[in-house]
Amino acid sequence: MAFYQCEKCKLTWQYPLEICPHCFTNLTEQIGRQARVIGVSRVGIPTLNHPSVPYFILLLQDENGNTWAHKSSKEYEIGAEFKTEAVLDAGAVAVWKVKYNYLEAINKVFELLGGIKIDGSSKILLLPTASAATHYYFRDNTSPQFFEAVLEYLLKAGAVLGNITVGAQSFDDIPIGAIAQKSGLLEVCQRHKIMPKDLSASTFDKKGKYELSKDALDADLVLNLAMLKIGQASATQNLFRILKKENFLGLKYLESEAGITESFKEIEGKTMTIADGETTQRSNKLTNYTGVVLAGRDPQNVDLVFNEITKANRLPEILKDLDLKLENIPLAGRTIQETQYLAEYF
Ligand SMILES: [Zn+2]
Repeated sequence: MAFYQCEKCKLTWQYPLEICPHCFTNLTEQIGRQARVIGVSRVGIPTLNHPSVPYFILLLQDENGNTWAHKSSKEYEIGAEFKTEAVLDAGAVAVWKVKYNYLEAINKVFELLGGIKIDGSSKILLLPTASAATHYYFRDNTSPQFFEAVLEYLLKAGAVLGNITVGAQSFDDIPIGAIAQKSGLLEVCQRHKIMPKDLSASTFDKKGKYELSKDALDADLVLNLAMLKIGQASATQNLFRILKKENFLGLKYLESEAGITESFKEIEGKTMTIADGETTQRSNKLTNYTGVVLAGRDPQNVDLVFNEITKANRLPEILKDLDLKLENIPLAGRTIQETQYLAEYF
């Protein structure tokens, strides 16, 4: 957990403030590496935000003396070390809460899956969700803040801008340029001097019955930046954008969307979904705070875990058709019980 300290006043904040509100000095980030349990409270009364009981609120302290609260479904002894384990299974989904800072949560979910290998020569294709020409707060598209934090993560990890391609394409009649502009995603690209690519105008290679974007086939890493939506399979649906639109629509007509997920095998082993679940859309299109970031190599698993966290009223068709079982998905970081939020019941 990161904290922000004023060197002069020695006051510390958990919010990512830039300057001290007392003396206007720039704050320094303090990142804790270890955490110990210094207090435990057991909660037995359920609420809409915390429906599964009992759970435990741990008071954790790091080596810098900073303390914070952490919800846990497991009871800890006072004095015990608190740490998270990485899960390396290919189908694993990492779940973490966003606390003021996207970059910190993105770092954490990647770490929970064993990390991703990036260096200056890695060719990376970023696929932000760009599906409607709406402002960022509707959460139809990847939020610009999340997109920016992912870019920042990649650059800190050693990626170079010249090897990063930001690609998107429209699967309906709305021009992708209009979506990019209204969603605020274009502005982030411009700030980083990245020219986003309309994948529909790029080259596609035929692999069996699928026509896949050459950018995806040639990349070392395909990052699917899903914008999670309750009751939908938005992570899976965003990855369909690596297919040629006509090919996708044709296949959708002939078989189910679930069947088209077979095409993901062509880029297996180098695909990672990193999903924005901080503020998400309910089925009535209104947004609410769900406070999570999810990651996984398998987008269908990410969708299923998110729908379970939010107790969606109905499961998306595609997930029903795929017949996925939650008990077969290894979770890293947080449990469903800890993050569960009855979003549709409000
Ligand atoms: Zn100060």
